[in-house]
Amino acid sequence: MVEAKNLFMKYGKGRQLALDNVNFFIDRGEFVFFVGSSGAGKSTLLKLIIRELKPTDGVLKVFNRDVGRLPRHRLPYLRRNIGMVFQDFRLMEERSVYDNVAFAMTVIGSSRREIKRRVPHVLNLVGLQDKAKAKITDLSGGEQQRVGLARAIANRPAMIIADEPTGNLDPGTALDIMNLLRSINLRGTTVLVATHNRDIVDRFKKRVIYLENGRLVADEQKGIYTHVH
Ligand code: ADP
Repeated sequence: MVEAKNLFMKYGKGRQLALDNVNFFIDRGEFVFFVGSSGAGKSTLLKLIIRELKPTDGVLKVFNRDVGRLPRHRLPYLRRNIGMVFQDFRLMEERSVYDNVAFAMTVIGSSRREIKRRVPHVLNLVGLQDKAKAKITDLSGGEQQRVGLARAIANRPAMIIADEPTGNLDPGTALDIMNLLRSINLRGTTVLVATHNRDIVDRFKKRVIYLENGRLVADEQKGIYTHVH
């Protein structure tokens, strides 16, 4: 589903490598944490997967296509199959919960009928069935991130990419959000999470890919955050 082969990324001449010969293979249906300190290369890697950036060298395959060489007309297909979740939620704050999720479906051309059926279903999945009419600014941080998750799954993506999804949440709420991501994964969606949240990584015992100064230094099944070199 995502495969990196000798992947390099450099933001400009004279800069150090943001990704330095990274190799991994992530299969369909996996749940993977990307960990590493700030500047390790996690965001760069996620941006390459959604082709917000192009690699300097090497191959990055997503859904079996080399995304670095993907023609422009294939980008909508790539992006509609990836649901994004952000640390700062990135919701339309003056709009309702319902509208935020419905808008994501409108963008890809879903019918009104489909939207009417699907939005209540995904709100139910994230436990927000009673908040459809609430304005985003009237919700707690945890509720806002639930909307973020509902929006991410609305179009039935093959993969969810979450960049520090719990970075703005207290520990209890963070755990709720991660449990939701796990249940989304159990329904078959591949989930990639970049995070600093040591407690959650250790508790979930999923695959952990560690980056350090752009290098992949460990890739462990049932990993914990703190590994010994
Ligand atoms: P992480 O997400 O793990 O904190 P990043 O992928 O953001 O790491 O950063 C990896 C490296 O790339 C760092 O050295 C960072 O300074 C550099 N970098 C990230 N984004 C840019 C950019 N837009 N321009 C130049 N350098 C960047």
